[in-house]
Amino acid sequence: MACRIPARALWQSSPRLALIPRVTSQGPRWTRHYTTPAESQNRTAIVTGSARGIGKAIALRLAQDGYDICVNDIPANKSGAESVVSEIKNLGRNAFPFMADVSNLQEVENMVSASVSELGPLNTMVANAGIAQVKALLDLTEQDLKRMFEVNVYGVYNCYSTAAKQLISQSTPGKLIGCSSIVGFKPFPLLSHYSASKWAVRGLTQAFAMEMARHKITVNAYAPGIVGTAMWDLIDEELGKIDGRKKGETIKKYTDELIALGRTSVPEDVAKVVSFLSGPDSEYVTGQTLLVDGGIIFT
Ligand code: NAD
Repeated sequence: MACRIPARALWQSSPRLALIPRVTSQGPRWTRHYTTPAESQNRTAIVTGSARGIGKAIALRLAQDGYDICVNDIPANKSGAESVVSEIKNLGRNAFPFMADVSNLQEVENMVSASVSELGPLNTMVANAGIAQVKALLDLTEQDLKRMFEVNVYGVYNCYSTAAKQLISQSTPGKLIGCSSIVGFKPFPLLSHYSASKWAVRGLTQAFAMEMARHKITVNAYAPGIVGTAMWDLIDEELGKIDGRKKGETIKKYTDELIALGRTSVPEDVAKVVSFLSGPDSEYVTGQTLLVDGGIIFT
């Protein structure tokens, strides 16, 4: 006849076995920390370039997720930033506008300090601001190339590094999120220096992810496809001029020919992915660039 000894009794009976750490529901060594609803109600984020377009949708979505928001943009878009702040306050969250050019490190440092004193400790930086330009490679001036990299690459570096230093000084985990693009995976002709800058965002994101992991800071990027914003109005118009198409025809042609899901993206499509990247469900994701393009590039 088989003799069954309960596992608990066996464990308790042997002094040597008792020394081996056991998997219990309470032991800190075995328990993963997930953000509790209470914690997720008191978070702050900076969203750059959020007076309009994708950045605005991200700022509003993160506010709905429970974040208080520093709404950043350049002085030319101050009124847009102020109206985003009002919308966020109407959602019952705190927000304030901060005008800063992300390509200027000192201005980014001032923005992070202002966010901490206005909203409290920083949790998430969304380095969304970017510029585009339609121009053939051989027509680019030194200044064209320089400005593209100052905003799209130095801007992301300034935001990642300044936010990371703040998070480390707070001794808190956090999230750095950058904006790449489908052209960071496969360039579009006539958007080549823009494409190269968005490849650099992927590279920076991967490198930051490696160096920040030990500080419990995750670093990811999102890569939108063809989103109906002011940026695509410009691309549509400029590509249209070169190829002899009327306003609105280029974005329609690209949508019909390239997007598997058959519709142009809206900023809220992107904001949903950033909501995931800035929330507790992505805590085991780092160094990734997530495409949100309706099926243009397949990884
Ligand atoms: P947008 O032009 O509508 O908005 C960009 C915002 O960034 C503007 O409010 C602008 O004033 C701000 N900005 C520009 N330079 C800045 C600076 N130096 N400092 C601070 N703010 C600055 O464009 P969007 O379509 O909303 O683009 C947002 C991000 O998404 C950009 O990084 C862009 O490259 C990227 N993106 C857009 C698309 C698209 O199809 N629209 C596709 C892929 C990636």
